Amino acid sequence: MPNRQRLYRTHAVVLRRRDFRDADRILTIFTPNYGKLEVIAKGVRKTTSRKAGHLELFSHCTLMLAKGRTWDIVTEVVGVESFRNIRQDLDKISLASYISELIDCFSESDDENQPMWDLLLVTLQELDQTSSAYNSRLLRHWFEMSLLSLTGFQPQLFQCLNCDEELAPVSNYMSLSEGGVFCPTCGQGRRDLELIEADVLKVLRFLQSRPWGTVRQVNIRPHILAQVDNLLYRYLLIILERQLKSVDFMRRLQHMAQAAAPAAPVAATADASLQEDVADLNAATMNDIGIKDAPQHAHT
Ligand SMILES: [Zn+2]
Repeated sequence: MPNRQRLYRTHAVVLRRRDFRDADRILTIFTPNYGKLEVIAKGVRKTTSRKAGHLELFSHCTLMLAKGRTWDIVTEVVGVESFRNIRQDLDKISLASYISELIDCFSESDDENQPMWDLLLVTLQELDQTSSAYNSRLLRHWFEMSLLSLTGFQPQLFQCLNCDEELAPVSNYMSLSEGGVFCPTCGQGRRDLELIEADVLKVLRFLQSRPWGTVRQVNIRPHILAQVDNLLYRYLLIILERQLKSVDFMRRLQHMAQAAAPAAPVAATADASLQEDVADLNAATMNDIGIKDAPQHAHT
């Protein structure tokens, strides 16, 4: 962990924020050199505050921070990227909020993590620029797979977990709890495994191993993408459960995927479930910006 000076400057993206006292705000920020930090922005809720505009959720800024006893204090803010297109689109706000929460769950305080910073920034930039719902969905999965790889939770998708043989392009067996795939010989007859179609495995591998510039050009059929939605959701849930972090977030994630859970084979259904995801995440975002939430969805 790099030693912070009494005054130090850093790039930052605001992941989370909450009101504190009359006019202050506690921000959870992600930085390239110090990982995740909690800092305080004093007086930022006053109408006269000039810092406020640059300290919105997901905005990319540079901060001058002064070491404080409980929280380091924001003394200066310069906006770098405001991601205006994200802010003008509720679906994008939802996804940016989801991305921020995942970074929050998987990152450590005071731990330099340049690759995670790069991933976060590229994802927000792409989300800001894209105009297609399909691309956003693909971006989300690429982000998830990249984040899992960066944090050491990547599923083994190339060799059989048991015999180490390279997996053939046939139906294999997936184990989410063991984080990988078994070949037909090793997986057959095991009730704790589920079949994974060759095309689904192919897409997952692609997401895991290619840069976004390549992934964005791929056209994935809706019924395959629906299975990818479903698998990735359940896999993330298992990992987050082990991490025992962010119980609220897990609940929302769970709710999000209830819609996607039947692995809807029809495109129209998949779209509908995506809408529900978005609606649910919107509720989450509203909470964050301090609007009292509507009655919570019942959790099963
Ligand atoms: Zn095997």
